[in-house]
Amino acid sequence: MGRKSKYEERQGSLFPSQETNKEEKKDITSHNSGHSVHTVNSSSISQGIQNNTDPIILYPSNWLYNASVIGFLRVIAYGKGESYVERNMLMDDGRVKVSVNDLFLKEYSIGKYRIPVSLKYFIDFIVSFIWRNKYNDEKKDIESKYKEVINKWYDNKVLMEEQKDFAIRYIFVGNKLFSSNCPYQNLISKKEWQEFEFAQLMFEIFVRDKDNNIKCVLCNEKLPIIKSSSKLEARLTTFQHPHMTLLGPSIGEFPNAFWDLEHSLRVCPLCAYLIIHHHIPFKKVKGSKYQIFINANSFKVMWYLNKFAENVLKNMKNENSIKKILGLSLIEFSQRIYATLGVWSMASIEVVIKEDNNIDYYSLPYDIVSILLNSEVSKLINEINEPVVLDKILAGDFDHLLDIAYHVIRKLYSKDNSENNRSNLILKELSKNANYQKLAYKLPELYAKINSIIRGGIR
Ligand SMILES: [Zn+2]
Repeated sequence: MGRKSKYEERQGSLFPSQETNKEEKKDITSHNSGHSVHTVNSSSISQGIQNNTDPIILYPSNWLYNASVIGFLRVIAYGKGESYVERNMLMDDGRVKVSVNDLFLKEYSIGKYRIPVSLKYFIDFIVSFIWRNKYNDEKKDIESKYKEVINKWYDNKVLMEEQKDFAIRYIFVGNKLFSSNCPYQNLISKKEWQEFEFAQLMFEIFVRDKDNNIKCVLCNEKLPIIKSSSKLEARLTTFQHPHMTLLGPSIGEFPNAFWDLEHSLRVCPLCAYLIIHHHIPFKKVKGSKYQIFINANSFKVMWYLNKFAENVLKNMKNENSIKKILGLSLIEFSQRIYATLGVWSMASIEVVIKEDNNIDYYSLPYDIVSILLNSEVSKLINEINEPVVLDKILAGDFDHLLDIAYHVIRKLYSKDNSENNRSNLILKELSKNANYQKLAYKLPELYAKINSIIRGGIR
């Protein structure tokens, strides 16, 4: 975790503008990387187990962990609103603050069982956004097949429609996620899911004692002491390739991946919980077989870039160039988010491309990223609104902008009307209703701005 020390240095000023809980008292002495713990005055908690580990702080790490956290944030935004995530969870320095009391220890009842409220949001989210059609197809079947199971949860009481519906959703999601050939195959057995063993574990992990000898490979925190009698706990904390095929291509990225010389990773239960959200922020690119996620070294940057990329993907017709998707997302970011990113942050932005079980990466050269993240440049690109201009910038062919400007001005003002092949070719690249006056005025300005950013070198 190379970024650990940077954050440790900065703990003295934890962005007072973002603090919402006035009662919070920070204990910043025990900080580490991964998710670490602050103490809090928890007198206001009305539900769940009292705990003294609130909030926990999550630190950006490798793409799998990052996608998991962004997926988790998407689910929380669904349950509590985007403004909850943007105001209470995303921190300006790139970390994420998770209120254990709000999201894990508040409970939702399914008969005599209970699940953390964040797991309820997760189930509703999956059914509403990921597998809505499948759910509608299978609902009746599940209802009849699992009638006895559901009756047992509710001690044979008559159920309200909402209770019955959620019980079916709960079973559906467990079956879908953990069956063979599903994203997290056999990670949790149907029986463990239906007996609420996983949900119960999520209540307990925050209050269990820690095992001093084992650290989580994803967050670098000590694992809680695992019940030796629980097969689920053993399986969850010794994450293996068969449980998630993506671990295969990704395993080399984890800092301690081969510590035991086996293809298994020691993962804490909170990371295991987060990992089952990792597929959520990946978005399909039209006309292709792959899905993408934009990775960076700040959760705040990832949150917005992926949100903008999703808009870009929705609005793109037949285009599936990853370069362009990333470029347009960066432009939107610099227009809508007031943030100046440092060199390391810009250099860390990459697109993770998932096709079946293969992972690939794409990133733009640093100078292109810094150009697109400049708000004056992105404003000009938007105002010019000519696809070829963005294409040339993405290709690093900045001189071509001057070429276009020259030929546009020549067309507008020159008395020489003789046909010129080069001129025709360049003007043909512009859209049919291109505004030559605007281009003649804005393109040299754009070129000059880009030139000054490049000449300024790495800032
Ligand atoms: Zn962990």
